[in-house]
Amino acid sequence: MTPNNDQDPKIPIDHPRYESLKYRHKIIEEMKTLVVAEAGLIAHGRGECFDYMLGEKTNETAKEAIKAAIALLLTATHAIISVNGNTAALCPNELVELSEIINAPLEINLFYRKEGRIEAIENILQGAGAKKILGLNEQNMVEIEELSSNRRNVDPNGIKIADVVFVPLEDGDRTEALKKIGKKVVAVDLNPISRTSLWADITIVDNIIRVMPEMIKIAKKLKGADEKELKKIIERFDNKKNIQLTLDTIIKYTKKQKKTAFVKLRNSI
Ligand code: ATP
Ligand code: MG
Repeated sequence: MTPNNDQDPKIPIDHPRYESLKYRHKIIEEMKTLVVAEAGLIAHGRGECFDYMLGEKTNETAKEAIKAAIALLLTATHAIISVNGNTAALCPNELVELSEIINAPLEINLFYRKEGRIEAIENILQGAGAKKILGLNEQNMVEIEELSSNRRNVDPNGIKIADVVFVPLEDGDRTEALKKIGKKVVAVDLNPISRTSLWADITIVDNIIRVMPEMIKIAKKLKGADEKELKKIIERFDNKKNIQLTLDTIIKYTKKQKKTAFVKLRNSI
């Protein structure tokens, strides 16, 4: 019997789960280079589960949140993009491109620190064209008092002075801590009811893989807009309502699957 080698990257392009498997392999590969922590694999799996229930697409509610997020980032005095291992592994090029368009530096900020991990993430971002990366010099870091974990350390020229922090795939404790020290938080999280999603000012419930290109597209569009228009977009956005609508989307999708999933199966026999 041929062993089922989960790490075989040769996934046939017509495989029904091609996209999902491609990124799963990417995460596994980048764990070997130290970019991704072991726990990052589990976080990715948790995300995949919610992605399934959202129909693996960017829903209207995510589009609304993306628009508001870009407006908030463009009107910030100091916006910053916090980068962890999974984000760096999945979309390094897009992180660099967005950072340049919205003029928000990238800061590496890790929960699971391990010798060589910061350097590995630095390499992947530099390979994607990043010119300036914050969070590299551990001696220079300052502490966020509300937090006991490793990630209490932040860069004095980055998260410390930022008014708006973009945290894709963040942990709930840290999102809460960032809120408690007065930051506006934009999060990307496939789980609409994680603590991160509930604490954030703007929660984009969608896969980071699809979110980043959409954010870049909207940032290019809104970059020239005047401050008044951007403020209006922010004011009109209601995060609590948007999360509730996202939950409705999951309910609707699940109901539809209840009716159609087996029909699809029968038709393909
Ligand atoms: P919280 O700490 O916010 O309560 P949690 O403990 O359930 O959440 P964590 O492991 O801390 O979850 O964070 C991982 C989060 O990232 C999960 O909610 C998961 O859904 C989300 N996630 C994982 N991969 C992706 C992805 N590719 N795109 C968007 N979200 C993702
Ligand atoms: Mg958590």
